[in-house]
Amino acid sequence: MEPKRPQVRPATEGWTQQKDAAGRPLLQFASPKRGKPPVHLADLKPEERVARVVELGLPGFRAKQLEKHYFTHYTSDPALMTDLPATGRDEFVAGMLPPLLTEVRRLETDRGDTIKFLWKLHDGALVESVLMRYPGRITLCVSSQAGCGMNCPFCATGQAGLTRNMSAAEIVDQVVRANRLIAEGGLGDPRGLGHDGERVTNIVFMGMGEPLANYARVMQAVRVMTDKTHGIGMSARGITVSTVGLVPAIRKLADEDIPVTFALSLHAPDDELRDELIPVNSRWKVGEALDAARAYFERTGRRVSIEYALIKDMNDHGWRADLLGDKLNARGRGWVHVNPIPLNPTPGSIWTASDRAVQDEFVRRLEAKGIPTTLRDTRGKEIDGACGQLVATEDDQRAAAATEVAGPH
Ligand code: SF4
Repeated sequence: MEPKRPQVRPATEGWTQQKDAAGRPLLQFASPKRGKPPVHLADLKPEERVARVVELGLPGFRAKQLEKHYFTHYTSDPALMTDLPATGRDEFVAGMLPPLLTEVRRLETDRGDTIKFLWKLHDGALVESVLMRYPGRITLCVSSQAGCGMNCPFCATGQAGLTRNMSAAEIVDQVVRANRLIAEGGLGDPRGLGHDGERVTNIVFMGMGEPLANYARVMQAVRVMTDKTHGIGMSARGITVSTVGLVPAIRKLADEDIPVTFALSLHAPDDELRDELIPVNSRWKVGEALDAARAYFERTGRRVSIEYALIKDMNDHGWRADLLGDKLNARGRGWVHVNPIPLNPTPGSIWTASDRAVQDEFVRRLEAKGIPTTLRDTRGKEIDGACGQLVATEDDQRAAAATEVAGPH
């Protein structure tokens, strides 16, 4: 018999969740109206880029040259673009590649293999990305919104609600800036081989924001990341789009012809707990989210990831592992993979790490049901860069206030 374990209920600590008129946690799907960021090459489709170049008074083929500078050489600096006519070059480049992200702060781990960037957007909004070197791959965790409207009680990002959607180019620029840093040797050189050709290989949309709430811009960003002729040319498989469960958008994603890796941040297999843990569950229930995830697999043939943060005495009970396994198996075999993610130990908080033995038991039970399961590494936690913890602190705000808008590189 399984010993009876306590049930800790989700609650915010040190802040109050905004509620709607019915007393439920407020969900914000629409982006507040704010000044839009300047239009950038990466916001545009290839033919629109040509049209814009012509509008700015140059022949259309200049668009291709700019694509090369920006997506291959990671530069927006007109001084380095000597293949463009010198007269009017600065204005032309400023019109096509306006500065979008100003670096406010950079935090590195001791070994220099994890770097967290804090960026200021044109309107002062702050977002973050985290760059991580692993053996054989380099992963960048990107933000897709400033703030977030999903109001999860454990998540620092959601506290202030949604500031605004990021533009496609603001999302892409995080990748280009990371690639520039890698090319300059800023992410260490463990093999001593130099940095030729080294760049970000994997993207996870697990920074600030709910990517599927900013659907069109996230899709444009993904297209640019994967376009081999007019973009960065990454493999779609290396790109993970995650969601807390916006079901209509998951179904739409399945219909796009881009085989990204899809991850559902489930965190609880039962509606009773998930309604409190992930407020959007009040809109789309566990079963609906799993049905949509299964449909994604059927449509794309790509195995789905289920993300599950293990929180002590809240969602880490053995019966929940069994229930999760049953709900996944009820929708077929071989279509899904579960990633339990251990939280940081946070003494005194209800949001703290499960005991090691409990983590192991959770994994064992899923595996016993035939579900492939991998306990994930939570790299980045020592610099507070683990997913779901991304928030600008007051210190960051001060640092941002002291930063002038930088030049175009
Ligand atoms: S956990 Fe994700 S979806 Fe929930 S509030 Fe935070 S950023 Fe938004």
